[in-house]
Amino acid sequence: MDVTIRGAGIFGLSIAWACARRGAKVRVIDPHGIGAGSSGGIVGALSPHVPENWNDKKAFQLESLLMAEEWWTVAAQAGGGDPGYCRSGRLQPIADAAALERAQARSVGAEALWDGRARWSIVPRADAGAWSPPSDSGYLIHDTLSARINPRAALDCLARAIRARSGEIVAAGSDAGAVVWATGYHDLARMGVAGAGVKGQAALFQLDQRDAPQLFVDGLHLVPHHDGTVAIGSTSERDWSDPATTDAQLDALIDKARQLIPALADAPVIERWAGVRPRSRSRAPVIGPHPLEHRGYIANGGFKIGFGMAPLIADIMADLILDGRDRIPADFRPAD
Ligand SMILES: Cc1cc2nc3c(=O)[nH]c(=O)nc-3n(C[C@H](O)[C@H](O)[C@H](O)COP(=O)(O)OP(=O)(O)OC[C@H]3O[C@@H](n4cnc5c(N)ncnc54)[C@H](O)[C@@H]3O)c2cc1C
Repeated sequence: MDVTIRGAGIFGLSIAWACARRGAKVRVIDPHGIGAGSSGGIVGALSPHVPENWNDKKAFQLESLLMAEEWWTVAAQAGGGDPGYCRSGRLQPIADAAALERAQARSVGAEALWDGRARWSIVPRADAGAWSPPSDSGYLIHDTLSARINPRAALDCLARAIRARSGEIVAAGSDAGAVVWATGYHDLARMGVAGAGVKGQAALFQLDQRDAPQLFVDGLHLVPHHDGTVAIGSTSERDWSDPATTDAQLDALIDKARQLIPALADAPVIERWAGVRPRSRSRAPVIGPHPLEHRGYIANGGFKIGFGMAPLIADIMADLILDGRDRIPADFRPAD
């Protein structure tokens, strides 16, 4: 065995796949099963930071979002799964004249910062069709970088690809080779990070908008999926007692979504879900040598964008573990 990965969430499985793809023998160990943590959810928005005030984290996320389509296509071909990936774009309302001016500046910013590989443009709401958010200014931002992925289908796609390369995914087993800890918020808490687990609640509607863009309106993500569902999310809760229950906070999100988007008014809610996001001190991912596990590695802190960051994090971890090539951004290194 070349690499043992603890944790079968999006970080653990992505790293296992990146290593297996390069010919390494991998074993993923998770006593709770695939997608038992925050990765086993329903939202799956892969959306960029605003193209301004550029920094390393935004550049890293951009690279990961831009490589995602090919990365997921290769995984799907290797194992025969379908992650439900589509770069279907995103619409956001523009509230007023000041927001319109900001959106115009960001449109110029995107041309430079996104290197011509995606657009951030302003479109009249009247041209956007029925699946669009209300907009007081009459205009919307349309970006062509945002994508969607079905979280559970994505995990299944990776699991199939790993197994197709003779990798193991097991509930228990011994560590062998390099050991990667991708075990979610408990591990950050073990490292002394206060508030390492931020709970989120989300809901799934039965409504087929599979070819439509995702919407981001008033803090709410609405994400049409390939299986004829629309996910909405999410709450963000620092204080919680039960990681898996949903409550009135989710009811409020569902009501808000129904009010904003008429197509959802009569659509049935078919699932309510909650999970706990791993949040590091800096809110950025934490990757590299594990500060507590001798000669082990850590991949954690995906927080709200773990699915978007996973392809590049997986490739960088595979570079480090298999080739000794260290491409980890300074801001992502675990504190000593
Ligand atoms: C409501 C909600 C909505 C979200 N929406 C989005 C979104 O739209 N887009 C996006 O990109 N991200 C989103 N996220 C964030 C994303 O889900 C997380 O960043 C991501 O799932 C983190 O993945 P992970 O693999 O690090 O952790 P997890 O998925 O939590 O996986 C950790 C795994 O480790 C296992 N484990 C624990 N201890 C051990 C041990 N000792 N040995 C072995 N295994 C162990 C657990 O069983 C678990 O399966 C959302 C999260 C929530 C909660």
